Amino acid sequence: MQEDREGFLYPSVDEQSCVDCALCESVCPALHPVTSSLPLEVLAARNPDREVLRKSSSGGLFAALAGQVLGRGGVVFGAAFRPDFLSLHHTAVEAEEDLPALMGSKYLQSRMDGSFLAAKSFLEAGRPVLFCGTSCQIKALKLFLRKDYENLLAVDFICHGVPSPAVWRSYLGELLPEGQKPRSVSFRDKRTGWAKFSFTLTAGAEGREKEISSVNDSDPYMWLFLNDYTLRPSCYACPAKGGKSCSDLTLGDYWGIDTAHPEFEDRDGVGLLTVNSRKGKDFLAGVTLDTCPSSLDLALQENPAYRLSRREPRGRGRFFRWFASGKLSIGEMARRLRREKGLADFFAYLGRKMHKIKRRLS
Ligand SMILES: Cc1cc2nc3c(=O)[nH]c(=O)nc-3n(C[C@H](O)[C@H](O)[C@H](O)COP(=O)(O)OP(=O)(O)OC[C@H]3O[C@@H](n4cnc5c(N)ncnc54)[C@H](O)[C@@H]3O)c2cc1C
Repeated sequence: MQEDREGFLYPSVDEQSCVDCALCESVCPALHPVTSSLPLEVLAARNPDREVLRKSSSGGLFAALAGQVLGRGGVVFGAAFRPDFLSLHHTAVEAEEDLPALMGSKYLQSRMDGSFLAAKSFLEAGRPVLFCGTSCQIKALKLFLRKDYENLLAVDFICHGVPSPAVWRSYLGELLPEGQKPRSVSFRDKRTGWAKFSFTLTAGAEGREKEISSVNDSDPYMWLFLNDYTLRPSCYACPAKGGKSCSDLTLGDYWGIDTAHPEFEDRDGVGLLTVNSRKGKDFLAGVTLDTCPSSLDLALQENPAYRLSRREPRGRGRFFRWFASGKLSIGEMARRLRREKGLADFFAYLGRKMHKIKRRLS
């Protein structure tokens, strides 16, 4: 896999070694359309353990599912940072104390490395396996395995799209003096609330830690992510959304819980859970969660990312040209694009108003 100038990995074929078996194409998730399926059940849900709920990004559902699999002697795959926080890798965990490294959303693309092969060998050995990732990663895993394993629980999450790992590396370099690495990073720090989450990074020697923290999109990296400038090109036409990942369970944030199920609202987070298969439903029966029955219509009112890909913003090409030139900081690029977008939004608003007035007068 080789990184392109935007910082995303793409497969590169060594023509000397390739035997033209076309196996890679026969399991490529981008080349295999899947028809979408509707979930069997939709729930608002949260982990009853307050501490776990606060440390998780949404409803702490992943931790509850993973705990159950580990309790049965299984293996859990998810995305964990390397100790220097420069890159994110899919990693297998076999002990409860290692689970926190997988918990929480990390807003950059995770490297799969050898995790599909590792999952396959655990499955062949008869161990229960939970594999959690983006919808496209889960679709790719299922195609790679080429058969259904009864001991695999495939879990994806509703996905806005994944930002470039190179942009993250560069931003980290801007935040910290050279040679210093973070002690912790949270993209969804809930101390300011679940809905008004913060990006928080701590660094520095023990006892003299420094914290950098900004609410939601006031952080430049988060603003670029939430406004879609740094996503992988394929995320603008995701082929695995809306029930096409072949997962057993799908996790998400239950945005809009205050209107859909006000009695279930919680400042520490509420998850959205779609049960996509019989296996997922049977597995859930053994997991302790607080739940509230819901429906897809209610749940998606404020979460279009379940079905819809993000639109590529006009300034994306410019952002990556600036990025490749290395002349501007991430902070400066975000400032320029934010100003430009603010103006464009203002003129679009004026245009809509004028159009309405014209219609009324005519
Ligand atoms: C890039 C990204 C975009 C998202 N966009 C949306 C959205 O638009 N709407 C929505 O409702 N939810 C979105 N989510 C999902 C949401 O943030 C929560 O992860 C999800 O609701 C599960 O929360 P939890 O509290 O149950 O578990 P958590 O403790 O948050 O666990 C999440 C699981 O996801 C894995 N994971 C974390 N980061 C990555 C990554 N970069 N790549 C692959 N796996 C990863 C973790 O290892 C863990 O297995 C997104 C997540 C990510 C990573």
